[in-house]
Amino acid sequence: MSKHVLIVEDDVDISRLLRLELEDVGYRVSCFDNGMRGLAAIREERPDLVILDLGLPDVSGVEIARRVRRTDPTPIIILTARDDVETKVTMLNAGADDYLAKPFHMGELLARVGVQLRKQGGGAVTRIGELMIDAVRRQVLWGEQEVKLSPREFKLLQYLAGQPGRVYGREEIEQNVWGGDLPPASNVVDVHVANIRGKLREAGGYGVIRTVRGVGYAIKG
Ligand code: CA
Repeated sequence: MSKHVLIVEDDVDISRLLRLELEDVGYRVSCFDNGMRGLAAIREERPDLVILDLGLPDVSGVEIARRVRRTDPTPIIILTARDDVETKVTMLNAGADDYLAKPFHMGELLARVGVQLRKQGGGAVTRIGELMIDAVRRQVLWGEQEVKLSPREFKLLQYLAGQPGRVYGREEIEQNVWGGDLPPASNVVDVHVANIRGKLREAGGYGVIRTVRGVGYAIKG
């Protein structure tokens, strides 16, 4: 399946050119010329990568990056007319993965898009802040540190990471991670969550899984 790139850029000449070039190398592309519509579309369409203009008429690209980052690990490349250090730091702090100063070379942009998508590992890698879950290698990292989980712990963490911030109820966790194969009033889910938390803490990850009393668990989005 071709990768989906979503562009938020108010300069229609640039976005038209980007669309042509990206489609030409096989990406699926959608364009938005306004920050709020772009943000809504990012949430709705869940693209594989976002190209974001810094100077938009309604909301700044930095603000959009910040909002996307709260809930979503989608790679973001920011296009900016400003190339000063302060702007770069602000963009990277807001959660941008990369940036390009205008006018940029199309070949360079395509190369950087490719780099970000490869980092994603073809959708097999989930990143939530410092947490990285690689579904193919069945590996979990906190920062640079490996977190060794049992197969069931891995499956549970992966399930919760499906939608960061969403609260998963105990019953749906039992259903999806254990196939509903647990005796009633079992505390197996809680024990596994406690084990995962302990292992994440050893790697430096605190407060990654949140308990919602009487309901279930959520991964911090
Ligand atoms: Ca602009």
